[in-house]
Amino acid sequence: MASAGKTMSGSSFFPGTWGLGLIGPVSEDDEQDLIDTIQTVGGGVADPELVQTFVHGIPQAIKWLEQDLGVELQRPQSAESAQQKQFIPCFDHKTRMWRGLTRKPLEDALTTRIESLGIRLLPRHELIDLVEDTDGKIVGATLYDRTNERLVPMAVKATIIAAGGTGGLFERSLTSADVLSSSQAIALAHGASLTNIEFMQMMPGFIEPKRNLVFNEKTWRYVKFDQPVDNADDKLDDLLEQRSGYGPFTSRLDSRAIDLAIDQAGAEGLALHYDFPREDVPEFVQTFATWLQDEHGIAPTDEMRVAMYAHAANGGIKIDMTAYTGVEGLYACGEATGGMHGADRIGGLSSANGIVFGRIAGASAALAAQKEPETA
Ligand SMILES: Cc1cc2nc3c(=O)[nH]c(=O)nc-3n(C[C@H](O)[C@H](O)[C@H](O)COP(=O)(O)OP(=O)(O)OC[C@H]3O[C@@H](n4cnc5c(N)ncnc54)[C@H](O)[C@@H]3O)c2cc1C
Repeated sequence: MASAGKTMSGSSFFPGTWGLGLIGPVSEDDEQDLIDTIQTVGGGVADPELVQTFVHGIPQAIKWLEQDLGVELQRPQSAESAQQKQFIPCFDHKTRMWRGLTRKPLEDALTTRIESLGIRLLPRHELIDLVEDTDGKIVGATLYDRTNERLVPMAVKATIIAAGGTGGLFERSLTSADVLSSSQAIALAHGASLTNIEFMQMMPGFIEPKRNLVFNEKTWRYVKFDQPVDNADDKLDDLLEQRSGYGPFTSRLDSRAIDLAIDQAGAEGLALHYDFPREDVPEFVQTFATWLQDEHGIAPTDEMRVAMYAHAANGGIKIDMTAYTGVEGLYACGEATGGMHGADRIGGLSSANGIVFGRIAGASAALAAQKEPETA
């Protein structure tokens, strides 16, 4: 298992956040609603078969994480709190089953499983290219050992690309530096296709006084702009209220005007500051303001500048329900792939995607490898 960064890296282990939200259907009865909602939020360009496999696979994948791997997942504090508005996933219309995936329990459980299976790890080894035989089947990989600065050729019986999304292609990006975003092009060059690749999550983030900080979307309603916002001035409060409901840009809602204004402000970012309420301050505002002040030395009244950052990819390498790319010997999963989300993605479904299709890709590739003759 080769990875450009350390073994547990990429967005899945991004240190700048508490962990990852993971959502799924509340019950079997909720599956169809989640499937339909993915199609709506996805603008009708998600692959129906993939969506079906995806949603149906989430409860089993969570069970596997908890029961087989022993990963302790976070849950809402009570059945009542699970119904609270704050647990409605981004772009969704109702609460779902919610779990929190934090780095340490995941890393510990995966390390134990990797050791017990005797998997050979190649950290800091970057996939440079794949090798085809004369029939176009993938039979090898060329890795670059970033520590020793040398090329490492490998013969392979089956290959899985799980190298993350396309955020690394952008100058301003809220992903880990080791999300190189090269694997989609490598797969494409060897006969795979890409789907929904134009759909990315673009996320407002701070560039001043500090860069690479995600803008907390729930705080949009307390923002005062320090410069005019085109096409939005007369209904700004309503647009800010709507924009407080989700993180990444969407073109589906009127509050896109806010994101377009940020984009128009260019590389210097849009100037704004907060005007938080003085009484009955909601808990999350308090927590956020304290974090901003204590961790980053930023006071709410300071002038801040916000710009758009590339965040997570919604499209990528096209796969089928078995995570097969259509190129013999080549499988793919996780944020490197597309088709299970469509244009916009419901929050908490990217982590779920990695786990559901990661397991499927592993099983499919193992089966394919077993059918291959032993090489000398
Ligand atoms: C700040 C932040 C918050 C997020 N919050 C959520 C959330 O709450 N819920 C949710 O569902 N999603 C969330 N996401 C998205 C989610 O984290 C990712 O979509 C998901 O973790 C991707 O998992 P992955 O295994 O496909 O890829 P990654 O975890 O990105 O892993 C990619 C791996 O591939 C390696 N790699 C890259 N290129 C190469 C190469 N050429 N050769 C070899 N190795 C390579 C990298 O080193 C890395 O190990 C968030 C993302 C970020 C950045």
